[in-house]
Amino acid sequence: MNIGIFGGTFDPIHIGHLVAAVNAKHSGSLDEIHLVVANIPWQKEGVRHLTPAQTRLDLVRQAVSNLKGFVASDTEIRRGGRSYTFDTLVDFRKRYPNDNLYLVVGADAAIEMHTWERGEEFSDLCNLIVVTRPGFEMPDKILTWPSWKTVEIPSLDISSTDLRQRVKDGRPLDFLLPQFAIEFIYETGLFR
Ligand code: ATP
Ligand code: MG
Repeated sequence: MNIGIFGGTFDPIHIGHLVAAVNAKHSGSLDEIHLVVANIPWQKEGVRHLTPAQTRLDLVRQAVSNLKGFVASDTEIRRGGRSYTFDTLVDFRKRYPNDNLYLVVGADAAIEMHTWERGEEFSDLCNLIVVTRPGFEMPDKILTWPSWKTVEIPSLDISSTDLRQRVKDGRPLDFLLPQFAIEFIYETGLFR
């Protein structure tokens, strides 16, 4: 099997994430793609208020519930503490010893990946798929990978940061994230 690992804070999950995942799955001929919800993303720790991981996971779970081959992964939440992609890759390697693993990242994450904990060891554990993201150039060198697959996706200038600001400003969320998630945000007062 070809298995994709698409990590993120998903605070909240939005259409940009889903379009990225669907297209990475298709172009990489992935049998499964796991959306791995970060417990504590070390880059964002202390920088801003984080929505509880379980809430972020619940929204991801609902968003992918009707998508074949999509899995909402709680592996980083169960592990607890700060979330490091290296640990997640080791977990997947143990769980799927005979399968092909593909780490899936957007261009912004690809550019930053050399700062990630034990990033230079990632290429021993998996392959890499990079999806385009508006506003970010594709890097010409990524850590220790000799090559990777680039997947051009429809440019959607959507970020969780912008969505959280939209809630604060009272601007519309329509069509930027799944309708059930919009309703959940309004009903619970999330991001207000
Ligand atoms: P934040 O603004 O809080 O950082 P985000 O929208 O960047 O949120 P993340 O959870 O940080 O979302 O991203 C998870 C993964 O999804 C990353 O690999 C990121 O590059 C990718 N991604 C997020 N939004 C898009 C998008 N609009 N197009 C392509 N890739 C995206
Ligand atoms: Mg981000």
